[in-house]
Amino acid sequence: MEGTGLRRNLILFGPPGSGKGTQAELLRQRHGLDHVAPGDMLREHRAAGTELGRMASSYMEAGKLVPDEVIVRMIRERLEAGSSPGGFVLDGFPRTVGQARELQAMLAEMERPLDLVVVLDVPEADLVERLGKRAGLEQREDDRPEVVGQRLAVYHEQTEPVLQYLGDQVPVVRIDATTSAEVVNQNLMRVLI
Ligand code: AMP
Repeated sequence: MEGTGLRRNLILFGPPGSGKGTQAELLRQRHGLDHVAPGDMLREHRAAGTELGRMASSYMEAGKLVPDEVIVRMIRERLEAGSSPGGFVLDGFPRTVGQARELQAMLAEMERPLDLVVVLDVPEADLVERLGKRAGLEQREDDRPEVVGQRLAVYHEQTEPVLQYLGDQVPVVRIDATTSAEVVNQNLMRVLI
């Protein structure tokens, strides 16, 4: 399905397990937005055994962030390579204030400014439960309980401050993301149209 005329450059923001990947994928399939997800890109690099994948592995397994310069270079190349006329949805980037600064600079250069930051709100207890389920389903080693705590801590310490930084420059809306993927998608479409 395609062609609702949605033209947006947006960030889906939220902790691990809040459903960013699911919602970004629905926006890609249904509305043609380019889904840009560094986590997926890094997992592809690891599967392909590239140098970048090998380098990122230890950080990912420990639930830590891969260094900014590596991620920023990867995202810049990705955004330069593929430009969907409908716009893009960033899923899992930026995750530090440094990345957010670099993002704003590169988007200004490309004349593709951000329209909106959408925060997916899910209480912490639900996240732990969701990630526990995903660990069994997708066999993601960083969804193991030992690593989940670390990823949530990184989110609070390094990623949440990004919201304050971007909030001074771009509109931010929060949506309840505790319901089903379809209901969250409907609420998301309401803020995008
Ligand atoms: P995700 O699939 O988005 O949860 O990402 C999985 C892992 O990839 C993270 O725990 C980090 O190790 C790494 N990663 C993904 N996105 C970023 C980013 N923007 N900055 C640094 N590391 C990242």
